[in-house]
Amino acid sequence: MTLRGRTLTEWSLLCLLLVGLAGLSAWQGWLWRVDHLLYDAGLPLLSRPAPADIVIVAIDEASLARIGRWPWRRAVHATLLHKLAQAEVAVVGFDIILNEPDTDDPDGEVLLAAAIARHGRVVLPVIPSPTGAAQVGAGRPLAAFAGAAAALGHIEMPIDADGIIRGLFLRSGDGATMHPQLALAMLSLADPERAARYPPTLTAGGVPGPRQWRRDGWRYLRFAGPPGSYRTVSYVDMLTGAVGVHQLRGALVIVGATAAGLGDLHATPMSASGQPMAGAEINANALNALRAGETIVWLDRATTAAISACTVLLLLIGLLYLSPRTGLAWSAGVGLAAVAVGMLQLRWGQSWLPPGAILLGAALAYPLWSWRRLEATQRFMDDELRLLRDADPAPTAAEAAEAGLDPLDHRIAIIRAAAERQRLTQKAREDMVRFISHDIRSVLVSIITLIEGAAGRNDKDRGLQRIGRYAQHALDLADDFSRLKKAETVDPRTFREVDLATLAQEAADEVWPQAEAKRIAIAIDDAGGQDALVLGDPSLLRRVLTNLLGNAVKYSPPDTTVRLVLAEDGKWCEIDVVDEGYGISADQMDRLFTRHARVSRPGQPDQPGIGLGLVIVKTIVDRHGGGVSVESAPGAGSTFRVRLPRAASRHG
Ligand code: ADP
Repeated sequence: MTLRGRTLTEWSLLCLLLVGLAGLSAWQGWLWRVDHLLYDAGLPLLSRPAPADIVIVAIDEASLARIGRWPWRRAVHATLLHKLAQAEVAVVGFDIILNEPDTDDPDGEVLLAAAIARHGRVVLPVIPSPTGAAQVGAGRPLAAFAGAAAALGHIEMPIDADGIIRGLFLRSGDGATMHPQLALAMLSLADPERAARYPPTLTAGGVPGPRQWRRDGWRYLRFAGPPGSYRTVSYVDMLTGAVGVHQLRGALVIVGATAAGLGDLHATPMSASGQPMAGAEINANALNALRAGETIVWLDRATTAAISACTVLLLLIGLLYLSPRTGLAWSAGVGLAAVAVGMLQLRWGQSWLPPGAILLGAALAYPLWSWRRLEATQRFMDDELRLLRDADPAPTAAEAAEAGLDPLDHRIAIIRAAAERQRLTQKAREDMVRFISHDIRSVLVSIITLIEGAAGRNDKDRGLQRIGRYAQHALDLADDFSRLKKAETVDPRTFREVDLATLAQEAADEVWPQAEAKRIAIAIDDAGGQDALVLGDPSLLRRVLTNLLGNAVKYSPPDTTVRLVLAEDGKWCEIDVVDEGYGISADQMDRLFTRHARVSRPGQPDQPGIGLGLVIVKTIVDRHGGGVSVESAPGAGSTFRVRLPRAASRHG
């Protein structure tokens, strides 16, 4: 398998694993701690000053000190309600449980019931209370109070697994009767229209029988600020008249305990410095959020799972295409972006996408992907090394010595040894080319010169002439061999711009003596190649044209014409070498570009040759990113077409 194939397989498996993991963990909420942590960190972004018309009447330390130990006589509450009625507050939420009778003070009970009734806009609390084994019922105020109250509202405050209160249910109850939350019940009295925006979602059929606690309409709360953000007046100040009655006109008042000893203090996301929030203030926040329509919803788990899975997939697609360094930045970027988008959405969209699953994906993707990619590369390298060893099984002393090292060192040792062998082979090849193209060649040239000198004096010596021909053949072989090696090893980085029209002219000049000997005309038609610039090695490209022109002259009868036609075709330059020669049959065409392939038609004059010329042409053109093709038919001449890419500097 190729390295790319292996990497893709590893990537696909990793995708399955991580996308699945992200989807599943979002669905199951495995990372709720992370989600809550980030949510809590983002929540202060939503803080804004508490409205002045929501007021807490606090049963605080000062009140306990002045009025006495809790619980107070109910007549005290009756007095408070009188004061609040005088102050013309809009509605009073009593966050004080009035479920048990006060046997010591039956009169107080009557007084309070009367005060509640007289006020007319008092909401009393309902709490879930155990009624038997695994059964929870509604703990309602005494019938006298409940009957007098304008409404009942539940004050159940669900605590998350980490002990923090983040939201509440709009309704809960014992199944038979669902009570609105205290704040919602207050809003129904103060502003029924706004309260109507929170209808029940549990259908009648969904409500089980009595004696089973039910909850409906979970909302996360938006808090005005840290504990103590709401206007608070001390209970005792209300009683004594220290707070002027006109100061609370139209206010929505929540009466509740803030004194630490009364135990109604809770941890909330806003309790950053360990300062808990009183239940009354949580209710004030609930009232504020419900009235402003600013509760927060978390995206449902299906949407969260889908978004998380898609984001992790996107992250992995990025990793597939990025380098390790940018990949690391990308993973970190996706993680941060998920959190940032979540915060923006919380701030302006009032909904929250828990980013835990995406963060999990982002945290795992990079290390896992690096590991799997390294594995794939290593396995690929091992296979390649095995091939290398099979080709050259004898281990060198260095390999043998390092065989016991750590796996990576071991591989590096093998590669180093292989590279060394490669270098030696390369050097041997260069030595051989130098030997043939220089040493042997100079001997052959000397022989030919000597023979030519001797033949001049004795031109009848047939043997000498034959030796001369063989020596010339050997010289041609040596030349073609070294040209072929040069063509095979040319470095494309040394290429420069070459004008094909000039090369064509130079090549025509070079083969002119042979053409002249056969009275063959060479016509250059460069009208279509005005701008025939290519990137290449000029001497090699000239060799392509001289070989093709030489063949055209060699394999054409005398008194014919060979034409060189230049043309441009989009990104390509084309040169056709067209002759009126003997042509090539279709079955011979396939062998043309193979080594030492020599073909001829019956009746065609015998021509000396080696059969390397076209191989050299093809090798050079291939190295230049082009191609060679032939069109020919016996007796109808041949056309060799060379296509080369045009230089990008002019036509990028
Ligand atoms: P060489 O010319 O040395 O034999 P080449 O590789 O140049 O080697 O050519 C291979 C063979 O292709 C030649 O032997 C010849 O039969 C055939 N050939 C090449 N060019 C032409 C041509 N223009 N017309 C006909 N035959 C050709």
